[in-house]
Amino acid sequence: MIRIESAAATHVGQVRDNNQDRALVAGQLAAVADGMGGHAGGDKAAELAVAELSGVRGTISDASLIKVVQAANKRIFRVALAPELRGMGTTVVACVVDNATALMSMANVGDSRGYQLRDGEFRQLTDDHSLVKDLLRSGRLTEQEARVHPQRNIVTRVLGISEDVDVDLFTIEVKVGDRYLLCSDGLTDEVEDADIAQLLGSAESVETAADDLVRAAVRNGGRDNVTVAIVEVFADEPVTTNSEASISTEEAEELERSLLAESEKTGLLGKGSDEAEQSRTDQASTDQASTDRAGQEAGIELATDGTQSASKRLAPLVVGTAAVVIAILGWLGSGWYANASFFATDDGGEVVILQGRPGGFLWHDPSVVQTTGLSVSELDGTSLEHLTSQPSWSSLTEAEDFVANLTQGSDSSAEG
Ligand code: MG
Repeated sequence: MIRIESAAATHVGQVRDNNQDRALVAGQLAAVADGMGGHAGGDKAAELAVAELSGVRGTISDASLIKVVQAANKRIFRVALAPELRGMGTTVVACVVDNATALMSMANVGDSRGYQLRDGEFRQLTDDHSLVKDLLRSGRLTEQEARVHPQRNIVTRVLGISEDVDVDLFTIEVKVGDRYLLCSDGLTDEVEDADIAQLLGSAESVETAADDLVRAAVRNGGRDNVTVAIVEVFADEPVTTNSEASISTEEAEELERSLLAESEKTGLLGKGSDEAEQSRTDQASTDQASTDRAGQEAGIELATDGTQSASKRLAPLVVGTAAVVIAILGWLGSGWYANASFFATDDGGEVVILQGRPGGFLWHDPSVVQTTGLSVSELDGTSLEHLTSQPSWSSLTEAEDFVANLTQGSDSSAEG
């Protein structure tokens, strides 16, 4: 079993006046979209792509991930039939991690990229669908020429331009300690690979990595919107589920004896048999680690079709396992609850949008998903009051609308 942590950050950059990039980190999914087209169209297209992906819950198959991206394409294509949005499109790179199998599915269309950092080695996982990549492939450009080519931002495949789209898909076996980076070209055009690898590898958390990378791109010029999403892989405690239990009577007795011995050592067992049974249940519930250890010491592989007597003797173990499963579901549920909320706040004088609950929820701290370039000092009294009251929204779009209205309430002409 593995688990992941993820974070995203975005910035409008130093030249553009609106941010047409979008990022999403939710549950097992991370994604970056880089919109293009008319003034309103680019962010609309990226928004639609991310909205479609935000419907993904838990782990999905490779085929389903492709379907979601294709559904996003169809949706953008239909919306782009409106004359004022004609020609809008977006790149997308998205990944979904399956904790049980430690497999990551990564899909991409366009020139937003997916990278892996493993044991200090940094490599690009996706292929760019761009003019310079085609020229590189045919040997008409060198890597160095491609980096500075005036047409390096021309993409050959995007979502929203035609009714159907080919989606590239990569399946990666993830390892504990791996970090994955999804990014728009606003990062890779400004920061050299070696520097990206260094910042990605040295940051103490995914949040810091995301912030450091975006800051570096903006500092180096920020000629485009810059957006990153980071995923890190951690080890997770193995969970032995009830459905995996098969054990012979002798093995069950041996396991029970070793559990009993362990419980007596910790002084949790009472003398009476009913009390003893209850205490054993409590012990199994509160100490999955000792259960696992006892199972390992007895050299037993747990599977399903045990004898009746074994099942009965296993009751405390099963109750303990169920408690652990419930605890994990609770943890996942709290994560879902914490992440299903967006709000805006004052971050060092700038209005930023965070994903999470204001003040945090349990151990889930909110993280910045979008900087807006809007200065808090430009807000009028009413807008400032609205910002300070920290209302939260169930979608990024609503939070963005809230910030856009803040802008209207001030003298500033900044766009978001
Ligand atoms: Mg871009």
